[in-house]
Order: sequence, then C-alpha cells, then structure tokens
Amino acid sequence: MTKYIVVVGGVMSGVGKGVTTASIGKILQQYGFRVTAIKIDPYINYDAGTLRPTEHGEVWVTDDGGEIDQDLGNYERFFGIDMPKRNNITTGQIYKTVIDRERKGEFLGQTVQFIPHIPDEIKRRIRSAANGHDFVVIEIGGTIGDFENIPYLFAAKSLERELGEKDVIYMLITYLPTPGHIEEMKTKPTQQAIRMLSENGIFPDFIICRAKRPLDNVRKKKIETYVNIPRDHIISEPDIDTIYQIPIDLEADKLGLKILRKFNMQPRKKPAWKRWKQLVEQIRHPKKTLKVAIVGKYVDIGDYSLADSYISINHALIHASASFGASVEINWVNSKEMERKGHDLSSLKKYDGIIIPGGFGSSGVEGKIKTINYARVHSIPFLGLCYGLQLAVVEYARNVCHLQNANTTEVDPKTPYPVIDILPAQRKLMEESRYGGTMRLGAYSAILNPDSRVFKLYKTTGRLKGDQERLRWLRTKKNEAFRLGVLSTPKHAILERHRHRYEVNPEFIPALEKNGLHFSGYHVRHDGTRLMEFIELPRHPFFVATQSHPEFKSRLEDPSPLFYGFVQAMIKK
Ligand code: GLN
Repeated sequence: MTKYIVVVGGVMSGVGKGVTTASIGKILQQYGFRVTAIKIDPYINYDAGTLRPTEHGEVWVTDDGGEIDQDLGNYERFFGIDMPKRNNITTGQIYKTVIDRERKGEFLGQTVQFIPHIPDEIKRRIRSAANGHDFVVIEIGGTIGDFENIPYLFAAKSLERELGEKDVIYMLITYLPTPGHIEEMKTKPTQQAIRMLSENGIFPDFIICRAKRPLDNVRKKKIETYVNIPRDHIISEPDIDTIYQIPIDLEADKLGLKILRKFNMQPRKKPAWKRWKQLVEQIRHPKKTLKVAIVGKYVDIGDYSLADSYISINHALIHASASFGASVEINWVNSKEMERKGHDLSSLKKYDGIIIPGGFGSSGVEGKIKTINYARVHSIPFLGLCYGLQLAVVEYARNVCHLQNANTTEVDPKTPYPVIDILPAQRKLMEESRYGGTMRLGAYSAILNPDSRVFKLYKTTGRLKGDQERLRWLRTKKNEAFRLGVLSTPKHAILERHRHRYEVNPEFIPALEKNGLHFSGYHVRHDGTRLMEFIELPRHPFFVATQSHPEFKSRLEDPSPLFYGFVQAMIKK
C-alpha cells in the first residue's frame, strides 16, 4: 500500500521546498523503500517548455521527453533514478484533460464542474504516478494562501478520505525570518501559514522550519502550542553550504524514523550514507578550486536568476569536481561582450575551462564562436553542450575547413555552408507555429566509437554499463523504445537527453572529418538517418561537445562522464 506525503510551503517561495522534498525522499529510500516524488505546478501552462528560463529557471528534460520545472531535477539528482514526465502535474494539464473528455462526450451529459471533476483528475494522476511505490512525496508548488493551490489541497484531503488517515501525512515547509533591525527570529508568519492551511482542513504532521539559524527552544515551544503537534515533529533546517547536506542534517534530527513511526512502519534496511557524506565533505572542504567560464547569452538579462537558468550544469560541475576533491567557481561570461570590436579575448586565459551551454537564437552567437576558437587554439579545456556543439562545428568549418560564412540556419538561413541545419520534419512544425513540446526531446541512444575519448569516459565512469542495462529494459517497453531509437542495443550505445531542433548537416561531415574533427558518436533514427551526437579533437587537452544535455543525467554519486572528463582535464592542466 503506497503512503502519501503531501508537502506544502508556507510564508514565501524560494526557501528550498524542492530540495527538502527531494531530501525526504532520499532518506526514505535509504531505509530501503521504493520512493517517487510528484511536483505540482499550479500554472496554466501545459508544461515548462515554453516558459522563459530567466524568469522560471531551467527547463528540466526527462528521459521520456517531458519539459518540466527544475524541481524534478532535484528529485532525480537525489533519488538517483530516472523519472517519467507524468511526475509533474500542472493545472493546464488537468483542465485540458477534463475539457477534452467533455468534448468527447465522456461525461454522458453531466454538468462538468470544478468539484468533483478537477480534484478527481488530480487524484487520478497522483495515483497513477504513485503506482508501484512504497512512498510518494507530493510537492505542491507555490505558497499556502495562493488561489491556485486550492484544487490540489482539496484533492489531497479527498485522497486522505478515500485511503484513510493512516496513509497520508502533511508537511509544512516554512520560513522564519530574522528582520535585520530587531535580530529576532519571528514565528508569526508561520503561525499564519498554519492557520491558512487549517482553513483547508489540513493540520501538518511535521513542520520543517527553514531559517538563517537553527530554531531555539522558545520558538519550537511557540509553534508546538500553536499547532498542537509533538515538539520533535518540528524540525529545524537552517541555511547550509550545500544542498547535499540537507538529507544528512534532517537525518541527524531522525526525520526518517519519525516519518516511519507516524505511518506505523519499520525500516527495511540500515541507511548507508558513507559515500554521500564523503562527497558532501569534499564539496564543503575542497582541496582545489577550478575556475570555469560559462559563456552564454542569458547573462545580459541581469545576473539574478542566472544560476537557475543553468542549474543542472552547475550541479553536474559540483558532482564531477566532488569526486576529485575539488570545487568549481563558475563565472558567467556574457557572450555579447566577446563580440565587441577590439575586445581582448585573452581575458579567457585565466579560466581552467570553458563551457558553451545550450541556447537559442542569434543573440551573442558570434561571441560564443570566438570563445570556442580561443579555447581550441589556446588548448583550454572546452565542453560544448547542445548549441555548444553546433557552434563548435560552425567554428571548425569556418576556421579549419575554410568554409567562409559557414553557419547554423537558425542564425543565418542564407549561409552558403549550412553546417547545422533543421531537419525537414522540424521545419514543417515551425512553419505551422507548433512550438510547444515539439523539439527533439528526451533520451536517445548514441552509438559511440570505441576508439574515442568520449567512449573511454563512459566506460571508466561506469555509465556505459548502467546505460546498457537501461537500454535493455527500455527495449521491453515497445512504444518508448521506438521513440528513443533503442530497438537494437549495440555494445557501445549510451543514453543522453536532448532538447533541440537543429542537427549537424550530414552533407558536411566528410569535409569536417577530413580536416580532423572526430565524430565520436551518433544516433541512428528508425528511418536510418544518422544524427551526430558527439565531437572531439584528439590532440587537444580536452575539446569535447555533445548534441545532448548530459547535465540532466549527472548525480552526486554518479557524475556525468563528460563533466568528469572536463574536470579531470582542468585538474591536469
Ligand atoms: N538552438 C539549438 C537547436 O534548437 C540548440 C538548442 C539547445 O542548445 N538546447 O537545435
């Protein structure tokens, strides 16, 4: 029987509800349970694919091609599992399903109403995602008191009625501010959040108190009397150096055992935190700090949400460097700066490595190409991700193959050498303005050249073995297998996630290869078309790029092979 843990936020957003939810799941997993998590986003967008990353943070891509809120990334990173897109529920999806069913006449003439039809659809989706798990942690986005939350709170209550109180618990993640002018930690906003929650018939079983400092007894007592819950269910979660510390801190407070006790359950196994703790120690006390430049275009919109726009790259760098006992200092470099006439690129010399991340459109592209050229010529470790691969191909075509004005047709549709071009099927979608959910999305298999550096990295990090198992499993799921192109699983195949429309133009591959660019892996589409997935330069300390987004599969205990190789090369340098 699945147990449900409903997590809601109080007081304000941005206090780490997502990572706390991920930590709770991680803890229960350590006790030997099969755990999954659901993120509820109460917006009308169908998914996060069309949301602006500078406002909303990065779009997370799942194996099965979902474009989702970045919190799902935290769940996958903490649980170390691949989650399907159905683990994200938006209000847009709920209403679309209900209205589509109504148009098909499936309600047999009933009046379709907010209650019960909307909560019914919410519950149906929750149960379907929960299926086969011991625990499901459900994070309701936003803050208690938001209008948009109401249907979800209603659905949670209704689920509790159907299943019984013994199978559902509620957690409130709240924030206790310490206003600068009085230097006293305030419980009042939390009390108000508790009251608002109770107006929905919900009384929290646990309250997790985020704050700058640990909660003292006076404040615990205040909250205890206000909500009437045992004091040991009020958990203090002060600010920390790294989010990977959170599960360890919550466990120090015995949160896992307390949750199990609440459900009347016993642990299935003894938690094994050794490796995780070691890595957290490495993050907190690195022996060496590496300087990395991420040269992107979002930089000119203000540095505030930057880290969020590239959050998975950030984490992939943390994972890879932790395994070498190092840390990475990221410098966000504006690619437009690089374009300015007379700009001295030698400022790039101070970096141990350069990343060109994913991106769209023409803004800042020439600056990125110049940066790639600098990294290539000056032997600076370089990692290109998606657009980063495409622009590295453009740079090589122009400066090594002498194809003047070579470009991607995304930037210059009239280029004489369209080395990166859109596939015909994608062009048709664009002409019909069908932007939502239509990119090449999700995991695809790539066959690696066994002589390549990329292959060696996938092999030595153990990913090759893991991906082979996953590929075999996916092959048994016929529909998925067809979509992901895993109908056969050659020995050297791996899986990475994608989100793009353009590809290396096959017409130019011979010329690029003849001039020394190595294509280290490709995907074979079911119609036989080969799509290039990796490039590398053998004589460079590290010049590797991929059409995929390997950052989505990086985990603390299992870093992404390409990031691992990139960090290794920076350390060697
Ligand atoms: N704009 C490029 C494309 O659509 C790259 C996308 C990306 O970097 N995610 O193919």
